[in-house]
Amino acid sequence: MIRLADSRVSEEGVLAVASVLRSGQLIGAQECLEFEQELARFIGVRDVVAVSSGTAALHLAVLAHEIGQGDAVLVPDFTFPASANAVVATGATPVPVDVDPTTYTLDPLELERAVSSWTGPERLRAVMPVHEFGLCADMTAIGAIARAHDLVVIEDAACALGAHDSAGSAGALGDVGCFSFHPRKSLTTGEGGALSTDDADLAARLRRLRNHGMERVNGMLRFTEIGLNYRLTEFQSALGRVGLRSFEAGLKARAVVAGAYTDLLADLVGKGIDRLPTVTDGHSWQTYMLVLAPEIDRDRLFADLRETGVEASVGAQSLTSTGLYPPAPAGAEVGPTLAHRGVALPCHQGMSDADSETVGRALGAALLAQQ
Ligand SMILES: *Cc1c(COP(=O)(O)O)cnc(C)c1O
Repeated sequence: MIRLADSRVSEEGVLAVASVLRSGQLIGAQECLEFEQELARFIGVRDVVAVSSGTAALHLAVLAHEIGQGDAVLVPDFTFPASANAVVATGATPVPVDVDPTTYTLDPLELERAVSSWTGPERLRAVMPVHEFGLCADMTAIGAIARAHDLVVIEDAACALGAHDSAGSAGALGDVGCFSFHPRKSLTTGEGGALSTDDADLAARLRRLRNHGMERVNGMLRFTEIGLNYRLTEFQSALGRVGLRSFEAGLKARAVVAGAYTDLLADLVGKGIDRLPTVTDGHSWQTYMLVLAPEIDRDRLFADLRETGVEASVGAQSLTSTGLYPPAPAGAEVGPTLAHRGVALPCHQGMSDADSETVGRALGAALLAQQ
């Protein structure tokens, strides 16, 4: 089976974890500190705070800005629902905003429309652009709207480690960035996550909030605010450090797979495929998602691909389509379309050229079977 992602741990990773386990130092020590520093260098920010998941990172990012009941946070309609769930967990309201059909990321025009027509009752406090599948949202336009309306910019870079635009890396383009190290992401620690920021005070607050609201005052541990336990363990951090060493190679390998798909599938656009993903330099290709034509039965396509040994899945969800969140004030048409017609193909560093061709051929055959 050609899997969607390859989350097997290298022998080097296994040894690094074993070494931590033997040391008895399981939390709050050197591995986590080193992982944070290495990530901060990689992303190009002053501080990284490692946490227990991407959702924990998003939750802390919202909490640390004192956003809660009576507040609202703008989120793209097309995303993994954790973006909105983290907002709900603080008592604030997520407000879905439609995405751009070519980039699958927050549409700045829709954002401007949602912000300028906002009538409350909640107070708009933040916007949470998602760098969906590893393509940076239009942070220049989103940043300008955020500044004009005094909104905090929380980047959901959960699937975008290594992505960049002309201004910098994902996680360094807003006030705070949030990453996930879930096995489906391109760097994994099993479960895990991190926050990135250039704001030293914010970083200090995030460190307190992830550790029960504790800090050292004159050498003594004090509880100075209400916090949570969102720590990353030493062995998870060790795994992350090993993964980071081969991360650049993984980025390159995924770009090769994405390039191969784009060549192999070009002829199928208009013949069962509506759209291939936008190709740009800074895309980290955590996921390669194409959009099917409306007449294609996606479940049947998934089943046919599985028969030929190819794992494929939906891309992301539409918040409004789930019926679990408030509706998008300005409506959402693109998000639901992407959620219902998106197909994510295998894209990882363990794939050979032959594997990409196998996937391309299997997809072509599965689409032909439905003509
Ligand atoms: C994976 C993901 C998350 C959640 O990360 P976890 O580590 O699974 O909690 C949040 N947002 C987006 C966009 C994601 O892709």
